[in-house]
This record gives sequence, C-alpha cells and structure tokens, in this order.
Amino acid sequence: MNTKKLLMIPGPTPVVDEISVEMARPVVSFKDKTFVDDFKWTIDTLNQMWHCDGKLFILSGSGTLAMEMAIANTLKKGDRYLLVSNGYFGDRFDEIAQKKGIIVDRLRTENNQSVTPNQIEQKLKQNIYRAVSVTHVDTSTGIIAPIEAIGQIVSRYQETLYIVDGVCSVAAEPCDMKTCKIDILFTGSQKAFGVCSGLMMLWASQRSLDRRISLGEIPEYYCDYQKWLPIMDDPTKYFATPSINLIWALKKAVQIIQSEGLIKRYERHIKNAKAMQCAFESMGFKVYAEHSCRAHTLSNLIYPEGIDDMDFRKKLEDEGIQVASGVGDFFGKMFRVGHMGNVDQATLIATIAAIEKALHWFDDKFDLGKGVSTYLNEICQK
Ligand code: PMP
Repeated sequence: MNTKKLLMIPGPTPVVDEISVEMARPVVSFKDKTFVDDFKWTIDTLNQMWHCDGKLFILSGSGTLAMEMAIANTLKKGDRYLLVSNGYFGDRFDEIAQKKGIIVDRLRTENNQSVTPNQIEQKLKQNIYRAVSVTHVDTSTGIIAPIEAIGQIVSRYQETLYIVDGVCSVAAEPCDMKTCKIDILFTGSQKAFGVCSGLMMLWASQRSLDRRISLGEIPEYYCDYQKWLPIMDDPTKYFATPSINLIWALKKAVQIIQSEGLIKRYERHIKNAKAMQCAFESMGFKVYAEHSCRAHTLSNLIYPEGIDDMDFRKKLEDEGIQVASGVGDFFGKMFRVGHMGNVDQATLIATIAAIEKALHWFDDKFDLGKGVSTYLNEICQK
C-alpha cells in the first residue's frame, strides 16, 4: 500500500488546502489589479502585525537571501559586527559577512544553552559594533535565544543595529519589532506561515532604512533595499517579477493567522511543543536544548543507545512520516521534528504514534502507546 506522507520536517511545513488552492490559481500579470491589491494588502498587514516603523520587503528567495539582505544593507567592508550563534544557522552569517570583508566577532554557544544577554553586553562594552545578529530559534539545535532581553541591551548602543533571524520563529514564537527593539527581522514562507518555500519577508525599521542610505552604493543588486522600496510602496511598479501565486498563498496564510489571533497562535505552539517534548522524553529520546531555552517550533531529539539514524528515518518514512536529520555535528546523532505553522493535533498524534511504532520495531523494550498517552495527558490538562 502506498502510505500518505506526512511532512514533519522543520520546514517546509504542511500546507493546508486553503493555501494550496491559492498556488493553483490561474496566473495573472503582476500589473493585474487583483494581484497588486493583494500584494499591497499583504505588505501593509504584515508591517502592522509585527509593529514595524519602517518597511517590509517581500522577495522571491529563501531565508538565506534574507540573511544576505540583512547584512548587505547594514554593514560595509571594514565594519565590526557581533555574531551571536546558537548553532549551524547562526554560523552561516559568518560566511556571508566574511565575503564582504566585515570584521566578525563571534559569541557561540558551547553547550545546549543559548548565549546570554550578559555575555552580549560584555562584548558591547568592549567594542563599537555596527550590528549584532541573533538567531531566534536555531533549527540545528532547537535553542531559542532571549531576543527581547537582548534587544533591551542592544538598544542602549546607538551605533548598533539589531538583526534577528526569525526563519524558524516568526508567526509561532512571540516576537515583534517594537517589543524586542529589533531593527531587522526576517523569515521564509515555508516555516510557521505554512506556505511553500520560495518567499522571504524582511522587516526593516526606520533606523535600518537610514543605515542603508548612509552606506551609499553597495555591491549587491537584487537584495538592495533601494531597488525594492518603490515597489513595496507601490506594487504597480516593476523591479523584478514577483512570485504572484506565492504572494496570494502568503495573503491566505496571513488571513489564517488573523482569524486564529497571534496570541492564540503563540499559545498553541507552546502547548503543543511542551506536550510533544514530554511525549518524546517518555519514549526515551533526549530533547537536546536545555529546558530554559527550548524552542516551540521543533524538537531536536537525540537517539537512545542502539538506534541507527539512517535505518530509523527510513523506517519512519515507510510509516509515512518524514522527519529531518541532524545537521553539522549532530548528523547521525539527532533527528528533528517540526511542529509549527498550521499543523493540527491529529497530525502530531499520528507522528508520535509512528515514531513509537518504529522504535518498537527496532527493539521491543520500547513500549507502545506511552508517547501518545503522554501527549494526550499533557494536552488535555486544563
Ligand atoms: N535561518 C534559520 C534559523 C533556518 O532554520 C534556515 C533554514 N532552515 C535558514 C536560516 C536558511 O533558510 P533557507 O533554507 O530558507 O535559505
């Protein structure tokens, strides 16, 4: 029998039918009023929802393009920049900045906890940094950084812009530009918005737009704020062809978020994550991140003794569940389960059940039903 595949990787996340149909709509011109009005609505609505006093950019491309856009419009050759990394995706900023000749100072976690606001403050006291970047949730470790507390500290340093990679957090973990004092926040369409991959959204504060002006000419072309500002103000204008159907899909995703309510959405993610993580622990996995800095968008699970990564993920795939491998140093030791976006409880229960079944298949010392019952007990708590 051909089993239906459940997409339980930490992005792309499952796409609900209401969003899928938007991607299947007949394509129109990017000048067509039905599209232009929707594009404008999506830009303005997302700007307001994340309390941005500057501009939101929606471009075709993935989260990595947004990382590059953030650096390109903030820093120039010779500038000093503080990179805070809680894993593989934080480290990626290093390569981007090095290519531009930016001087990078790194603060990197050495265990399963986040770099602390205090460590960041010590660095800020020692040097003048033109920017600090922090990854809100590093998808490689499942560590969440205290971005609000960090924002309070960074905002005391006039020269320093605060960049937050929200690829694995925005629309699932509480955060907005104003409360967290962020200058640049970005994400991709394929994570907590529950759209296919292909779009990036980047919120730039007024301070960030001003910094871009102060840089003068920059070497980048496609991701230069200045090229896109006229289009984000008035989407009847052209710079490069927008992804029409993906933008429609994003509009629907935003409407779904509005009808759920952002606060309720955050609460749902927190509740589901806690129940999932309790269930995984009851089954014998170790959740990598320490309790105080555990993300709610995914779980990064260390295998119990004797379970082979490749064999296990193959078995799970046969059961109809796709999970992700560990990345970097964690390859072979960890697998990752996404639980963000528009994924429902029935899908989460099916995921836990299939994981239990696979574990039991490898070794019958692993009980059947323990994970599902732990999840249900947690989720049903009043
Ligand atoms: N930052 C984080 C935190 C991510 O999780 C990812 C992708 N998993 C990226 C950046 C890069 O995004 P993309 O793969 O869409 O280019």
